Amino acid sequence: MAIADQFIGLSEIDVQIKAAEDELAFGPRDIALAEADVKKAEVKLHDAGQISTNMAKQIHTLEIDIDKIKEDINKTKTFQREAKSNKEYQIFKDKIDGEEKKIRGIEDQILGMMEQQENSKAAQKAAQDEVAKAKKELEQEKKEVEATKKKLDAKIVELNKKRQEVVAGIDKEDLEIYERARRSARGKSALAPIRGVVCGACNVKLPSQVINLVMIGKQIINCMSCYRILYVDEHSDTRGDDEDEE
Ligand SMILES: [Zn+2]
Repeated sequence: MAIADQFIGLSEIDVQIKAAEDELAFGPRDIALAEADVKKAEVKLHDAGQISTNMAKQIHTLEIDIDKIKEDINKTKTFQREAKSNKEYQIFKDKIDGEEKKIRGIEDQILGMMEQQENSKAAQKAAQDEVAKAKKELEQEKKEVEATKKKLDAKIVELNKKRQEVVAGIDKEDLEIYERARRSARGKSALAPIRGVVCGACNVKLPSQVINLVMIGKQIINCMSCYRILYVDEHSDTRGDDEDEE
């Protein structure tokens, strides 16, 4: 057995641990996305409510305007009754007609606003449904994440147990070399198979004496570029072809 082969099982375990840890990190991200959806729907609901409230305020203001105009009309009518001449009477009548026309205009405006108010109420209702749906989805997401976390936590514990067993069988100095290579690989496999004449991880061309040393298998040889531990993969020998047969 080549010396690098002792790391193959360990590297497989480490890659699986890293994959489980990465998957674990998706949980909080998924929950944050679902929470953002809830917030977005709540903002929509708030906005729709505000439009409705504003519309009600504006309608109220216009209704007060109408009341004022009506008061003016009543005053004008009092003057009209005391008119000294037909001409004067007509002037008051024209004024009253003009103000009544103004009232009809404002009433039309109010009708338009009430229609908008109805629309914003419908939008409010839709936004309420959206909030409820987003909250339900968030709860669902939390449950799923919790279930996945439980599974992954158990898997990681199991893998670490296996790792300890494997590590116990490896020489301490050899293990240090492996750990250094693993840190350099940043979560990827600390090992690299030789493919043809290149490092299977970083593709740098390897000197023939390096390949020879790896083939002899008495020393641990790191790729001088990516620092991974080089090994001879039976499925990709050094004859130069790149077959991936199972
Ligand atoms: Zn390399």
